[in-house]
Amino acid sequence: MKSLKAQNHPLSDTQYELQLLESQETGIPFSEKLAESGLYPLVPTQIEILQINLGKMCNQVCKHCHVDAGPDRKEIMNQETMMECLEVISKHDIGTIDLTGGAPEMNPHFRWFVEEIRRIKPDAKIIVRCNLTIILANPKFHDLPEFFKNHQIEVVSSLPYFTAIKTDSQRGEGVFEKSIKALQMLNAAGYGQENSGLMLNLVYNPAGAFLPGSQEGLEAEFKRRLGSQYSISFNSLFTITNLPISRFLEYLLRSGNYQSYMEKLIEAYNPIAAANVMCRNTISVGWDGYLYDCDFNQMLELRVSCTTSQHIKDWSLESLNNREIVINQHCYGCTAGAGSSCGGATA
Ligand code: SF4
Ligand code: SF4
Repeated sequence: MKSLKAQNHPLSDTQYELQLLESQETGIPFSEKLAESGLYPLVPTQIEILQINLGKMCNQVCKHCHVDAGPDRKEIMNQETMMECLEVISKHDIGTIDLTGGAPEMNPHFRWFVEEIRRIKPDAKIIVRCNLTIILANPKFHDLPEFFKNHQIEVVSSLPYFTAIKTDSQRGEGVFEKSIKALQMLNAAGYGQENSGLMLNLVYNPAGAFLPGSQEGLEAEFKRRLGSQYSISFNSLFTITNLPISRFLEYLLRSGNYQSYMEKLIEAYNPIAAANVMCRNTISVGWDGYLYDCDFNQMLELRVSCTTSQHIKDWSLESLNNREIVINQHCYGCTAGAGSSCGGATA
């Protein structure tokens, strides 16, 4: 399977995506819902997390991917932009650095970057969003569990389900088996083991046009099934709602579910989740250094609203803390039901 971009698919044009989102028939504007909750305009609380996208290159081509990542995507962060990120990290009290992609480990400067972050901020929480299969994709990645451990990295990994059939249908044939092996390797390095301090969290997202079930219930079920069948342990399960953008939007349109999915998200609007959306404490950095309110806005090319601080090299904490967050109809994905963020449910 190719990325939408490689297929030259109309949905690889973000302007087209935004037009679709804005022209949706039952679309109560997200801004109106926020206003009803006393949250419009949406503003940051305080920037606590820097989420850095190291590139769109990935060894997988998952059906729902909001990044439209894949082996055919060549956009990756260069070392100069990483140095600009390090400058910001060294100067500001940002407690969490969240590395994502694509597969962030495929960036040739990944290890250097992690080492530098750890050197500059010995106490920072560093998260790597590891797709698991990358660990087995090439012998040069086999030691990633040890590398993560040596730098006290928190690992967050997608595993859509505890069965091969559901996982492979979303992420590609053979992904489940490789993911299980990778999880066992992480466990062997101490990840997800009691008292090791090495955090291993899993991410669940629905396989179709529906909202995730209860995070607590799913976590218990995943722990039971992965534990009994594969002797795998992990810390927490994060449930994430699929946002109607990129490849998931393509699926919704192709399957005739777009309208009903948007209605579901709007009906399930939860003001508590709205108050806790992740863009209020996070800044997302694109592979080319541009700044966004979140990874979803990044994929829609909706840059932060403060014009004086749109790129990491022009970072101004004051401007960013005083900006208005850019919203659109896709934001309903973060506020439906128990809410959704890169750290799971929010309400
Ligand atoms: S969802 Fe993750 S693992 Fe799958 S293609 Fe996208 S970036 Fe790669
Ligand atoms: S999609 Fe992004 S900007 Fe919109 S509510 Fe979610 S985190 Fe905030």
